[in-house]
Amino acid sequence: MSYAIYLRKSREDREAEARGEGETLARHRTALLDLARNRLLDIGAVYEEIVSGETLAARPQMQQLLEEVAAGKWEGVLVMEVERLARGNGIDQGMVSQAFSASGTKIITPYKTYDPSNEMDEDYFEFGLFMSRREFQTINRRLVAGRIASVKEGKYLGGRDPYGYERYKLPKEKGWSLRVVPEQAEIVKKIYRWYLDGIGSHAIATRLAAEGATRTAGTSWTSTNVLRLLKSPLYCGYVKWGHYRQKKEIRDGKLHKCQREQKEYLKVKGRHEALVSEADWNAVQQRIAARPGVPMPGNRSLRNPFQGILYCKCCGHRIQMETVIKHPADGSVKRFHTLACRYPTCNVISSMFYMVEDALMDALREMLHGYQLDLSAPQPGQDGQREQLRAEIRLAEREIAKADEQLRRAFELVEQEIYTPEQFVDRRRELLARKEVQQAALQTLSARLAELDAAARLPERMIPAITNVLEAYPLAETPEEKQKILQSAISRIEYEKLPEPGVRAQDCKLKLVIYPRIPHHDTF
Ligand SMILES: [Zn+2]
Repeated sequence: MSYAIYLRKSREDREAEARGEGETLARHRTALLDLARNRLLDIGAVYEEIVSGETLAARPQMQQLLEEVAAGKWEGVLVMEVERLARGNGIDQGMVSQAFSASGTKIITPYKTYDPSNEMDEDYFEFGLFMSRREFQTINRRLVAGRIASVKEGKYLGGRDPYGYERYKLPKEKGWSLRVVPEQAEIVKKIYRWYLDGIGSHAIATRLAAEGATRTAGTSWTSTNVLRLLKSPLYCGYVKWGHYRQKKEIRDGKLHKCQREQKEYLKVKGRHEALVSEADWNAVQQRIAARPGVPMPGNRSLRNPFQGILYCKCCGHRIQMETVIKHPADGSVKRFHTLACRYPTCNVISSMFYMVEDALMDALREMLHGYQLDLSAPQPGQDGQREQLRAEIRLAEREIAKADEQLRRAFELVEQEIYTPEQFVDRRRELLARKEVQQAALQTLSARLAELDAAARLPERMIPAITNVLEAYPLAETPEEKQKILQSAISRIEYEKLPEPGVRAQDCKLKLVIYPRIPHHDTF
């Protein structure tokens, strides 16, 4: 992808020109073309604002450029200062900021590069500050106030059709409301009825799957979305605002977005038809709140040491721990734990918790033995393969450097007018294409080498880690301790136990696939 240049005079420039300081746009064009040449950026277009309006509406070139930026046409835009992109009023700035950040288009000035695709980029943060300084947040606040006002008028604000309804545009006024979708509405009513009859959300999802009922977009029902439906006041005729808040968290160096349910949220009588009575809806909420075994948020203590590690090999969902309570005839109470995949359509068989622990220890012992063998008798040929890859990487790097040098020379030749502009364009395209091929090759080769390096160093890293798990796990007292020990050496375990003809469920073969946790900080 190539880059665009955007040139525009500010009011100060026009005043300076009036004092005879020379033509600003020509000076800026040279400066930005120099910048492009120094950084080997391919310029695909130059936008020059002839009229110098302060608002977007008065800047046709900027409108055109923004449309292209929003469509992701450009890798980046070169501009003298960020302010040249967005002055004018706050709404203009919001649009500019939105177009650049949504498409991840870079803004390159002679002093700084702003990369919106990198939220951790300090320079981009500064760009955000620039925008907020110029009223960006005010618009946002105004927008929120507007949305709350429409909720208060009973309008539906969601961007998607909620299950059971479809959105329609309100006639003769702004906003949307909901119309009942009869087939889906029947299922909604059934879910509420079942829940009031004492059937749990998991069993409801299983029943729906058995009936072949799908959600919108053909996805199947899970206990989570059954519960979410049961909790939504939409179904007793209300609209809401702020029920779920998005929360951004950084975990393991990655940005995660999750939705948090809020205790307090705005709830207003809507304009749409209810599917269940308010009394029924309230009764359902009471049942949900009184559900046994739901840990209170805040003092949630870990019960399952496999949490976050153990997944179903068949459907990919997590394997969950359940407590089963039995009352044998002797009057005692027996309590034991099982591990099971609760995904409704999955037919993986559950296991007693201790059996999975035993199987895991066996699997780890086997793995340790395998690594010890690898270490004492390394695979022949691997070193040679890595050496070969390193040689190919050096070659690709040399080719890229050569293409860069040739590009630099092509710029000189066109400047000295040895190349015609047409010859230059052809030459540059050819060189860029050659460089791109080499870069792609370099990427593939480096990834392959990193993989082989990691594999070669795996035994020496994993032997102490697994030995530690085998020694420490049996001594650990709390689920938290156990989880910590497991996570020190294992990133994921996949669980498989499938029905076998003529074999009792609990006697079917349990298979665990273990993915070692490879420490990434010392890979090279
Ligand atoms: Zn499963």
